Amino acid sequence: MHKHPGALYVVATPIGNLDDLTPRAQRTLAEVGLVAAEDTRHTSVLLNHFGIHTPLISLHEHNEGEKTPALVVQLLQGVSIALVSDAGTPLISDPGFDLVRKARSAGIRVIPVPGACALVTALSASGLPTDRFVFEGFLPAKSTARRKRLNDLATESRTLVFYESVHRLAESLADMSVTIGAARQAVIARELTKLHEELRAGSLEELARWAETAPEARLGEAVILVSGAPPQAQSWQADAVLQPLLELMPVSQAAETAARITGMNKNQLYKRALQLAGSR
Ligand code: SAM
Repeated sequence: MHKHPGALYVVATPIGNLDDLTPRAQRTLAEVGLVAAEDTRHTSVLLNHFGIHTPLISLHEHNEGEKTPALVVQLLQGVSIALVSDAGTPLISDPGFDLVRKARSAGIRVIPVPGACALVTALSASGLPTDRFVFEGFLPAKSTARRKRLNDLATESRTLVFYESVHRLAESLADMSVTIGAARQAVIARELTKLHEELRAGSLEELARWAETAPEARLGEAVILVSGAPPQAQSWQADAVLQPLLELMPVSQAAETAARITGMNKNQLYKRALQLAGSR
């Protein structure tokens, strides 16, 4: 066995714009002995674009368990390996967890080579709070399980970030509007770093309606970001002020007065006042 084990490099690749492959990632992909790729045909297009001719081996969710032991042996024998997925950062809703875990257990050095990741890219430009957030990955494909997961998240106060397959975007937004609340603010980050990049903000109800009707909502890739639930104490305070005001004045005036009294956001108070007025 070789004296010095190879290193496992976890290399992020672009999520659309090829210029986002960092010089360090290019150098790593060119210098390692082997690139373990989610889809070798997809990655060979990327490597060819950069004039890189490193041999490729496939490592995807269906063969990861079977292929990992042999890759760990190669690493122990001194071969350095770069792990890549089709786009973005490996292991983030992508294969590679088994290999990274087993390589680390075998004492192999695992070196991250950071770059694009749709979650961070979307969050950074969304305008939603970024100080605390929850990444939920993909929601369950079946509506019953999806609604249950969303119900569990309805009172989460941190920003929620979801990956979604584009053909389920409308369905998921409709479920979010029902479970999390029609008025909750959200952002759809579509086609990031690509020609038709779009960050569309609105309430969950507005975005669900847009996704239902707009042809572009069925194309490309998207991240869904949902602002966190207002802290319980704040919503109680809002209700305590709004309820008596609604006895005396119309909804918009009640919201405006409550905003002056509490210093809370007028639009959010207006939406809450509409809900309270509707349930009386
Ligand atoms: N590992 C990747 C990463 O670091 O972002 C994510 C892979 S996951 C299988 C694919 C999902 O990521 C898509 O369904 C979509 O939710 C999101 N995504 C990937 N590329 C995107 C892009 N260019 N614009 C918006 N969302 C994207």
